[in-house]
Amino acid sequence: MLNCHEASRLCSESLDRKLTLWQRAHLWLHLAMCSLCWSYRRDIVHLHEQARRYDEEVQEAFASKPSGCLTEEARLRIKQALNT
Ligand SMILES: [Zn+2]
Repeated sequence: MLNCHEASRLCSESLDRKLTLWQRAHLWLHLAMCSLCWSYRRDIVHLHEQARRYDEEVQEAFASKPSGCLTEEARLRIKQALNT
């Protein structure tokens, strides 16, 4: 059976790649018996999801403006400053 260190490492890795069947089975067996690792997994999954949503919001904000995040007014000010 996995110890808590191994289980927490697999919890983190599961956010970045698909675990093997053996790893998933041993991880879930450990999680079923260890409330600390269960809580750890719940928390990192939540943080991962929040980071993904934040990244999507930032990407949408950049995509909605043709030249990145600068407003038209800011681009004009920079252009005027470069021309002087
Ligand atoms: Zn544990």
